[in-house]
Amino acid sequence: MKNITVIGSGTMGNGIAHVFAQNNYKVSLVDVNETALKKALDTIAKNLDRQISKGQLTEADKTNTLANLATFTQLKDGAANADLVIEAATENMNIKLDIFRQLDEITPTHCILASNTSSISITKIASVTKRPDKVIGMHFMNPVPVMKLVEIINGYKTSHEVTETIMILSKAIGKVPALSNDYPGFIANRILMPMINEAIISLHEGVGGVHEIDTVMKLGMAHPMGPLQLADFIGLDVCLAILNVLHDGFGNPKYAPCPLLVNMVTAGNLGVKSGEGFYKYTAGSKDLVVSKQFAKISAAAAAGM
Ligand code: NAD
Repeated sequence: MKNITVIGSGTMGNGIAHVFAQNNYKVSLVDVNETALKKALDTIAKNLDRQISKGQLTEADKTNTLANLATFTQLKDGAANADLVIEAATENMNIKLDIFRQLDEITPTHCILASNTSSISITKIASVTKRPDKVIGMHFMNPVPVMKLVEIINGYKTSHEVTETIMILSKAIGKVPALSNDYPGFIANRILMPMINEAIISLHEGVGGVHEIDTVMKLGMAHPMGPLQLADFIGLDVCLAILNVLHDGFGNPKYAPCPLLVNMVTAGNLGVKSGEGFYKYTAGSKDLVVSKQFAKISAAAAAGM
């Protein structure tokens, strides 16, 4: 496998492109938005500089990595010679189905088609292609250059050979693959999202404040980030979309998104990307400041402490 095409150059796409290019694969990065492609190349260069300052890479590694990257705005230009495509476009079923229909026409017949989707059924995506045996989930974690895990998702018709190829490839780029079957939320989000939702319900019902809920989970359960801060980091719209997939997919009310989460997304408070969620974010500051909306909700505040 030599030529990798990554579709979507946002948060995840630029990280995936970075890791493959750093491991000497030729990477074509495709995005409909030219500005997003430019921003992705800037982000990759900055992240490479950070790796150099930590002594993990040399200047020559940076030069090689950047030389392995090419950008395209047209799918047909960026995917015609691909051995593997990893789609990391916006989490929207219609966008993804449209991309996979096109990829099935454009790419060589041996090409494996992977999706980085957080929650959309791989079997559904595969069903719009004539090669469902070669369609698989490769769910990287954010930030991709740092996080070790890749959740590999077998669609209903994914062949054993394709799964094995992707497991081996994941190890070759320094990641640890974990295999999941194709059910709503796969493994990662089926476990993570109910925890985040329960944290939001606890806040909504006044069991604890933002700071208290995150502190309990950080210091009590040794999580590096509390669930509310993590939700802000992932994006509250993304959390809501995944909870809706779990709720619809299982038909079980235990996955119903908390009304507070729905309200926050409707109001445009999406977390880090919009500048405010459970916390308020100011460019250049790493301080964790609880959003004014929640400043007074805590058991301590209720007790007048
Ligand atoms: P993002 O919004 O940062 O980037 C999406 C990019 O896709 C944008 O640059 C957009 O211009 C591009 N795009 C949209 N339609 C396109 C098309 N038809 N062709 C080419 N490019 C197109 O999104 P993201 O957070 O990087 O998420 C991408 C995927 O990764 C989603 O499926 C998401 O569920 C998944 N994911 C996200 C995270 C996370 O923490 N953000 C973690 C794991 C998986």
